[in-house]
Amino acid sequence: MSPSRDDLLRWDREHVWHAFTQMAEYEPLLIERGEGCTLIDVDGRRYLDGVSSLWCNVHGHRHPRIDGAIREQLDKIAHTTLLGGGNPTTATLARRLVEIAPAGLNRVFFSDSGATAVEVALKMAFQYWQQRPDPRPKKTRFAALAEAYHGDTIGSVSLGGIDQFHEMFRPLLFDVLRMPIPDTYRLPPSVTAERALDHYVGEVERLLSEHHETLAALVVEPLVQGAAGMVMHPSGFLRAVRELTRRYDVLLIADEVAVGFGRTGTMFACEQEAVAPDMLCLAKGITGGYLPLSATLATDAIWQAFLGTYAESKTLYHGHTYGGNPLGAAAALATLDVFAEEQTLANLPAKVGRMSEHLRRIAELPMVGDARQRGLIGAIELVADKATREPLPWTERWGNRVCLAARKHGVLIRPLGNVVVWMPPLAISIEQLDELANATEAAILEVCGG
Ligand SMILES: *Cc1c(COP(=O)(O)O)cnc(C)c1O
Repeated sequence: MSPSRDDLLRWDREHVWHAFTQMAEYEPLLIERGEGCTLIDVDGRRYLDGVSSLWCNVHGHRHPRIDGAIREQLDKIAHTTLLGGGNPTTATLARRLVEIAPAGLNRVFFSDSGATAVEVALKMAFQYWQQRPDPRPKKTRFAALAEAYHGDTIGSVSLGGIDQFHEMFRPLLFDVLRMPIPDTYRLPPSVTAERALDHYVGEVERLLSEHHETLAALVVEPLVQGAAGMVMHPSGFLRAVRELTRRYDVLLIADEVAVGFGRTGTMFACEQEAVAPDMLCLAKGITGGYLPLSATLATDAIWQAFLGTYAESKTLYHGHTYGGNPLGAAAALATLDVFAEEQTLANLPAKVGRMSEHLRRIAELPMVGDARQRGLIGAIELVADKATREPLPWTERWGNRVCLAARKHGVLIRPLGNVVVWMPPLAISIEQLDELANATEAAILEVCGG
């Protein structure tokens, strides 16, 4: 006999330890089915998936093309290892990723999450400097931006700069050289908007010039720092960081786990500043939001440093059991096919434009300090004071209250502190975008007052 609805809700509350969730306050929500951009819970209630099931869904749920590709792969084999062997689907995906990635990223290491994609990049960068033909053994450190988020394993948490999540673990972490967050909304005192780019680039240069001899790599989330609260960098920042890391001989690792696969308007965010990093981390949208798969792409120069006889021990001793899983690879290949078949990127500007119209209107609401956007990422920051941009106390959970109110209007969104986030599947329709915006606006009015 199948369990009752009440059993399921109880089991979810009592046995499932939910990610980033205070379980003492948790109210179960069980999504049973999906259709396109709609999620359906165990009671048959329908919600618009306003955060792409945590920033990963691209073409909608139950996409026939992706469903079919997974079934077809399942009829061959579900899993086979990449340790010393491979499979046709994963090899084809590697080739496709190399074709669409920024130039020079010809080598693909597969793992299974964004955090592991970053861990792999860290170990590759470290080992590269130790054993390349002209070794630089002092280059052992990493640089990252303030408020950075690169995942929840210990290496990626070391890179992380969000105190609420990361500070507790400080004694377990390696030391990282921290650069200011290039925030275009909250500027440092005395820095004007016109001078912001120069200021932030100047800070990066100062740190690189002082520390480059011990730096293996600089890690950056290109264009938008997601978990920091969808903080948007000034345009030109990524390009400048690429030029500086070249000049100071420090590897550049681009973490496109959140911004990759069309999210900012181009397939990869790096394209917008004509940047080719030394390593590129991909996850979330790679399978269209279907299955856990990730990839760390690297240049030929990095790959070369790992070649040698077995006895030389230059091998990258790193791997994850399910890395490059063929079902995930099949979903990823189908996801890329759908980009072409449905002209997903060509259809984006109209949606991006519609989102801008809604954000301009919402920006006028009393407690909205900023309504910012990059591609199909929208972020509405609630503040205590519009003029001074004074933040609301995080313990009051204004963002969360707005998102819970939006749920009553049939929209599922998830905040980052006091920032209400829109990150719908790229497949969202204009009508659904209107629904997302109207529900959010109504929720803000209910929670924050007129
Ligand atoms: C989500 C995220 C990660 C971590 O990905 P997981 O698959 O959750 O491990 C890493 N970097 C960025 C920028 C992310 O947004």
